[in-house]
Amino acid sequence: MGGGSINDARRLYTSEGIFFAKINTASEFPGMLEAEADGLSFLAKHSSFKIPGVAGTGVTNDQQWILMEHISSSSRKKGYWETFGCQMAEMHRSTNEEFGYDKTNYLGSLVQKNNYKKTWAEFFVEVRLAPLLEMARQKGEASQEMVRLFEKLFSRAEKYFPEEPPAAVHGDLWTGNFMTDEDGNATIFDPASYFGHREMDLGMSQLFGGFDPIFYSAYNEAYPLEKDWQERLDIANLYPLLAHLTLFGGSYAFKIISILRKKV
Ligand code: ADP
Repeated sequence: MGGGSINDARRLYTSEGIFFAKINTASEFPGMLEAEADGLSFLAKHSSFKIPGVAGTGVTNDQQWILMEHISSSSRKKGYWETFGCQMAEMHRSTNEEFGYDKTNYLGSLVQKNNYKKTWAEFFVEVRLAPLLEMARQKGEASQEMVRLFEKLFSRAEKYFPEEPPAAVHGDLWTGNFMTDEDGNATIFDPASYFGHREMDLGMSQLFGGFDPIFYSAYNEAYPLEKDWQERLDIANLYPLLAHLTLFGGSYAFKIISILRKKV
């Protein structure tokens, strides 16, 4: 199947029915698909979305694989975006004592640590932005101006987000990571889940476009966002943008610098 940005994705026709499989090199991305299975069960536990069930994971001759329920896409049901927004809000109400998660997982092909922190500001700076900025710096992708502006942001990180309880987040909620299932509802997959600030998911949903305005109005009715939430999404998106910068370099630096100049 096409569409997968990282893995070899396949549809398997078997005597037990149709399955969906993803395959990748085990030594290059250790534990990646096992982490994906864990993320899918996290989503199933903390939401009412119909999440593909995992049949198994394993490593065979340096090939890691995950085998899961196949989703046959159909057309969107009436009220699709409204239900999607409400379900996302409901998932974000699922909470935890601290920000983080008890396992390391992956954001795309990047290892994502999730060490617990008591505040979102600490977590966002120490566990999300700073390690990626350091990686970008080592690769020669972070200019002095970028480093200086990030340091300014780090020094007053608590002022950028409203204080909220940790929320169960998808972690990589861009348009490529949801689809319409056989019942016409949205299903979400390919997570990078942890307990974080819910505005991280909303930011990511707007990074490459594709979510209908009804999604946000339904979300806001079910679990109202703090005032000026739209203004903060650029700050939230510094994390996925830094991830893109370390992976692909180039033009992402301009986007990051322009956000930092405007918001910090
Ligand atoms: P990658 O990790 O390589 O980005 P994805 O998990 O995003 O791969 O899956 C690639 C594509 O395969 C998705 O965009 C989606 O269209 C399709 N897909 C994902 N999960 C399933 C599933 N359980 N059943 C059917 N198709 C799926």
